[in-house]
Amino acid sequence: MQKIFLYNTASRKKEELKPIVGGKVGIYSCGPTVYWNQHIGNMYSYISWDVLVRVLKYLGYEVKQVMNLTDVGHLTSDGDSGDDKMEKGALREGLSVWEIAKKYEEQFFESEKLLNINRPDVVCSATQHIPEQIELIKKIEKNGMTYVISDGVYFDTSKFPDYAKFANLKLEEIKDTDRNEISKEKRNLSDFALWKFSPKDGTKRQMEWDSPWGVGFPGWHIECSAMSTKYLGEVFDIHTGGIDHIPVHHTNEIAQGYGAFGHQTANYWIHNAFVVGKGGTKMSKSLGNLFLASELKDVGVNPLAYRYMVLNSHYRKGLEFSVDGLKVANIAYEKLVRLINEWNDGGKINDSYKKEFEEKIADDLAMPEVMALVWKLTKDETVKNEDKKATLLDFDKVLGLNLGKSIEEVIPDEIYQLAKERTEAKIAKDWAKADTLREKIKTMGYLVEDFKNDCKIRKLVLS
Ligand SMILES: [Zn+2]
Repeated sequence: MQKIFLYNTASRKKEELKPIVGGKVGIYSCGPTVYWNQHIGNMYSYISWDVLVRVLKYLGYEVKQVMNLTDVGHLTSDGDSGDDKMEKGALREGLSVWEIAKKYEEQFFESEKLLNINRPDVVCSATQHIPEQIELIKKIEKNGMTYVISDGVYFDTSKFPDYAKFANLKLEEIKDTDRNEISKEKRNLSDFALWKFSPKDGTKRQMEWDSPWGVGFPGWHIECSAMSTKYLGEVFDIHTGGIDHIPVHHTNEIAQGYGAFGHQTANYWIHNAFVVGKGGTKMSKSLGNLFLASELKDVGVNPLAYRYMVLNSHYRKGLEFSVDGLKVANIAYEKLVRLINEWNDGGKINDSYKKEFEEKIADDLAMPEVMALVWKLTKDETVKNEDKKATLLDFDKVLGLNLGKSIEEVIPDEIYQLAKERTEAKIAKDWAKADTLREKIKTMGYLVEDFKNDCKIRKLVLS
């Protein structure tokens, strides 16, 4: 079996993956907070871990992937202050928190489908696992690592000697940015809430539950400890998330694991970097570089061209995104699919390319190198075209680019409109206008082909 190496944030080096049970890998992935749309920048993480699961399966492992949906407890600060993101979403849209959760869960899975991300084996939401979270807090309490203040039950981080280690935190430098009653009551500024009490000022929360400590709701971090260990066991193989999870969310998950079980819950912690705009700038709607997966068609690109773009970046480096870059990726992606579809079936997988492919995917998911290998193979004159096709379709089990399917043309509305005007001009026998429109469409990168009573629009292939 091919050895797999992954960069473990816990040790800050590439390590060989040694599953707890030979041949089987358990993965827990931190999922979205379902209070708002997940845009393509957010989807980077989910594409990355989809590739990881596909790599493990391709190399012969049996994989169980669990992912949570946060639908309670995530406050706007990522810590213990600010508003509840779900309740805020509900206020924003005049819906109940439950309706907000359902709406954005659907938007998330729709995006996953467009980007060809396989659904994890278990998808679990925080609100469906309240008893499990309470049980876990009781375990931590029994081990003497909690205390109760006016605002809720807190984890005493001074009881976990390695608290600062995972993220290289400098605890003495933590500032009391909140400066409120709660931070004064906390024993250490790094302490965090396991259970928060509902407000006592009469404001009614839409989501609250009974607990041994009082009516309230779980802190954000406890759900991941409770659900990962429920579905994967007290210790499992891989925990994934974004680099923003390292200093707070995952540091606290590790503390909770220690508090409840006396040890770490995951052996390998792997993290993806972010998608940024040109030159490292922020992505935003107003800058015109922030899209939902469902909006990619509007810029005339196939949603899988974004997946292609992500595959050309390394998950630990992140991606510099621009619309121009996306369009270039779309041209390359469509060219690759067309090439493969022109070749005959019935070829054999090329062993030496397959070997090189396996080495690269097993080297901390070196996908940019894999994509270079893909193009090298398409141009290799010593390999028969049908063998290239068989090999690339085999690679596609990992790439997930639907290389064997013909491209669904994405024609922007603007082009459709011009084609319609041209048809109308033809009906009116205004041949000059029809020709002008045909040329205009051509300069925009599309070709109108006439058939008996119909016309067809095709994207011009640039080589
Ligand atoms: Zn999490």
